[in-house]
Formats: sequence, structure tokens, C-alpha cells
Amino acid sequence: MTTEQSPLMMAAPPSTLAALDASKLRVTRNLKPAELPNPDNLQFGKNVTDHMLQVQWSESHGWHEPQIVPYGNLSIDPTAGVFNYAFECFEGMKAYKDAQGRPRLFRPEVNIARLNESAARVALPTFDSTAFLALLSEFVAMESRHIPSIRGYSLYLRPVLIGTNPGLSVSPPTTALLYVVASPVGSYFKDGTKAITLEAANSSQWVRAWPGGSGCHKVGANYAPCMMAEAWVRQRGSDQVLWLFGEHNLVTEAGTMNLFVVIRRPTGDRELVTPPLDGTILPGVNRDCVLRLAREKLEGHGWVVRERSISMGELEATAVAGNLEEVFGTGTAAVVSPIGSIRWEGREISCGTSSVQESVATKMRKWIEARQYGEDEHEWSVLVDGLDHAKSPEAKL
Ligand SMILES: *Cc1c(COP(=O)(O)O)cnc(C)c1O
Repeated sequence: MTTEQSPLMMAAPPSTLAALDASKLRVTRNLKPAELPNPDNLQFGKNVTDHMLQVQWSESHGWHEPQIVPYGNLSIDPTAGVFNYAFECFEGMKAYKDAQGRPRLFRPEVNIARLNESAARVALPTFDSTAFLALLSEFVAMESRHIPSIRGYSLYLRPVLIGTNPGLSVSPPTTALLYVVASPVGSYFKDGTKAITLEAANSSQWVRAWPGGSGCHKVGANYAPCMMAEAWVRQRGSDQVLWLFGEHNLVTEAGTMNLFVVIRRPTGDRELVTPPLDGTILPGVNRDCVLRLAREKLEGHGWVVRERSISMGELEATAVAGNLEEVFGTGTAAVVSPIGSIRWEGREISCGTSSVQESVATKMRKWIEARQYGEDEHEWSVLVDGLDHAKSPEAKL
């Protein structure tokens, strides 16, 4: 048996360099903390908290001292790799307040592992996951007044890693910055759960991801090239693009959401289908939650759960035969979004015979949210207990 080493492993730094060390955290408090925004007026990513977490990295030293500092602009050389060659990756995750007012993170280790994988894909440095979780917990504890104590609300966390060294040469970054900003966010569905519409983009015209590409990583370079297609479908009256791949028009995902399909089978049971992680799909945390919950609560009770390819042709034929019960998307922003219809080659495929109330999408959202807010106590939800650096003598108050 031969085990092939992943080429990405070569990006791992030699062990003589300084590792990310949470015990070295220095805190500089914001002396002018902002007034909390009215929760009714929150817009995604528009309101930020008082502080940001940041850690510098250099090829010669490794990870420098982590810092929590007042939120503010960064100063970066215009020739830096992040601006010229998109040396950037990021994460999207949320902190929630439970009924006792305690902040919680949801499966943070999955986001952190994914950030490390994204970093390795674009030649950025990787870091110790446990140390980063300790720092993130400290940051969330410090910003916890910004997590609204309202069910459905949360604090969106945006970790970002960028290549910062000056010089226009096209080569792996020699310095980098890992930072985290936070933004309170409201309930995605203000007026109850609303189905969205998609338009499937012809894969001979628009492609989001391809085997061997970077579409299965959360790197900034994946997003800008998709915006014209998004604008194009919005102009035609749909909410988002459904990205297809290859000559068989395989369904992949919807840009910021993974896709699930519920099919009634001739045997009377139901099949929950999502495309497999073949390199064209972002491995979503919520995708994984839905698969695990389906295997835990549905499989065996008239349900089969499958990660398999599904083409637009099959999807349309299933709908025409009256066997397409539901389509929904999953992602951190909305958790679960029911999809009402998909436009494809000038035709409109109606996605669903189930009512929204009785849908699997609604059940999944309730099950996931119950764990996020600690109502269904589960290992996915991690209580944030800060390391108390904010009170240490070196903290500037
Ligand atoms: C972030 C993202 C998702 C959703 O992932 P979650 O971890 O569930 O938030 C889906 N597709 C793409 C392209 C994404 O960037």
C-alpha cells in the first residue's frame, strides 16, 4: 500500500518557527466603545464590534504575539500579495447567547480546520487550531455584549488570513496577517421563512468550481468571478445562481449555500440527496449538520440519505413526474433556505410539493438552531469561557 502525500502538506512551516500561542495574548481596550445598535436595524456585516483580534506571521519568525486591539483600519503595502494575487482565505461562523445569557460557539473546530485547509491551498501559513480556538473564545467573551439576547440573533465572526509582504513577485507570502472581526446579525427571515428562487447557469457559459480548482476552499478568489452571473440572474428576477458543472449539467451549489433535494421514490420512501464533495463543492458546516441529523433522525424511518451526483435533467424529470418534494440550501447566514423554484433554459421548475411548515427544511432549521442556542444540549455547541486575559495586569485599561 502506498500513501501519497498531499502536495498541500508541503506548505506546513518547519517546526523551528514560533507556533501560535494563545497565552501570549495582549489586549488593548477600546476606550470609546460604541453604543449598541438597535437590533431591528442590523444589516449583515454593516455593524462591527469594538475590537478585532489580530496575529502577524512571518516566514523568519512564525506566529507573533496575538493581540486584541480597538477595531480600525489596516495599513498594508499596495504591492502586497493580497491585493495583487488574492492571497486570502476566510471563514464565516457565529456566536450565540443561550437562555442563561452565556455565549456559545457552534462547531468552531470545523470552521478552524477548514480555514487551515484553505490557507494551505493558497500558500498561506497554517496555525495551531487549539490555540486559535482559545483566542477566538477570548475575543467572543470580550465582545459578548454585542451578541443580542434575542432568539434568531447572533454575532457573525469573520476570520480572515491575508498575505501582506510588499513586492510584486508572484510567490508564496513571506508575511501574513490573521485577523477576526465580528458583526451582530439579526434573524435572516424577518417575516417567517420565505422561499427563494434560483436560476441554473449554463455550465458552458458560467462555472464556479472545477475538479482540482479552489472551489472546495473558502478563498476570496472564488467570489469576485461569480458576481456577474449573480447580477445577471437577479436582473432576470431570480435571487441566486444555481451553479452547474460539466456536460451533464450536474447540480453543484448556490454560491454561498450547499444544496439538498428531497425526492419521493416509487417505493414510497424519500431520498435526501446532496452532491458529493468532489472538489466542486464547498464542504459546508451546515451541509454536514443536515447530513448528520438526517442519518440520526430520519434514516430508517422511511428515508434514505445519499451524497450523490444529481443532474438538472434528473431534477427536472423528477419535478415533472411530481416526485420532487423539496429543494433547500444550507449555509451559516440563513441555516436553511427553502427554494421555491429553479429557472433553467427558459423553463421554470417548481421545487416542492411539501408545505413549508411540514418540510424537512423547517425541521432541520429547528433542530440545528436548538443546538446552536443550547436548548438541545449537544457537543456541537461549545460554551465560551474566556481565558480572562482582559483582566491580566498587562492589559491596558
Ligand atoms: C461558506 C459557504 C457555504 C456554506 O458553508 P457553511 O459552513 O454551512 O456556512 C457554501 N458554499 C460556499 C461557496 C461557501 O463559501
